[in-house]
Amino acid sequence: MIVKTQTTRFAPSPTGALHLGHAYAALVAQAAAGEGGRFLVRLEDTDASRVRAEYEQGIYDDLKWLGLSWKEPIMRQSERAQAYVEALDKLRAQDLIYPCFCTRKEIEAEFRASLSAPHHNKMGPDGPLYPGTCKHLRPEEAVRRIAAKEPHALRLHMDRAMGTVSDNLTFRECGAGPNGESGIITAMPSVFGDAILARKDAPASYHLAVVVDDAAQGITLVPRGNDLFPSTHLHRLLQALLGLPAPDYLHHELIVDEDGKRLAKRHDALSLATLRADGKTPEDIKKMLPALPKF
Ligand code: GLU
Repeated sequence: MIVKTQTTRFAPSPTGALHLGHAYAALVAQAAAGEGGRFLVRLEDTDASRVRAEYEQGIYDDLKWLGLSWKEPIMRQSERAQAYVEALDKLRAQDLIYPCFCTRKEIEAEFRASLSAPHHNKMGPDGPLYPGTCKHLRPEEAVRRIAAKEPHALRLHMDRAMGTVSDNLTFRECGAGPNGESGIITAMPSVFGDAILARKDAPASYHLAVVVDDAAQGITLVPRGNDLFPSTHLHRLLQALLGLPAPDYLHHELIVDEDGKRLAKRHDALSLATLRADGKTPEDIKKMLPALPKF
């Protein structure tokens, strides 16, 4: 049961026009905040090659048109590098991260090559599980390659991380999850293997940034699409390792097109700007969407 007053957020990327799926996510987030609650916006704007000022303006225009208002300030992930560095420092101090110099291609090639072996590498929610190549580098070797400015990511040492947290790490699901999961759920983050926490070209991966930022914004309830339900297991682990509070979660259904595919930036015809230009009203939009989850 959700208490009535929550701090929730809507976290779009300003890399394209908002569509019906975003409208639903934003409406759920505002409704879940409850009367007197706080509804916040956070821009996931770290991909500088795809972010555009007009998309950011479009987000504000679309949200206002839908009748939504949010509490300032808006958080921008592009201004949060220092917070991510501090979080990584905390994990490094516990010896829970290591540098990884492998390219995506190398990892995929190793995955394919392993498929014929009896104990082949597994797939995780984010792709092939990392086989652990760089975990076994000698420390002097890693230091030398970092000093030589070799591009590298930072990975979580999953086995060690699991050894430092309580056996019964849980989160509360206030929605229905992709398979009807609700209530207290036991987090099982191991399926991610040694997840990437910082990339060669970004100070934080999605998983690290979302956990650090939800805590910094004081989010008490995270509403988001069912596609992110698996990620919540990893987020709960990161919260425990970083000593951050665990918000509740409300995963909601995804809006799909006529072929059952999740709406994406390519669905221009279903962008809110296009629908608005076609004469649709905010009420029409709400009628096109599923009912909001019950709070
Ligand atoms: N930016 C993500 C998305 O649009 C949301 C991430 C989250 O809510 O945790 O799917």
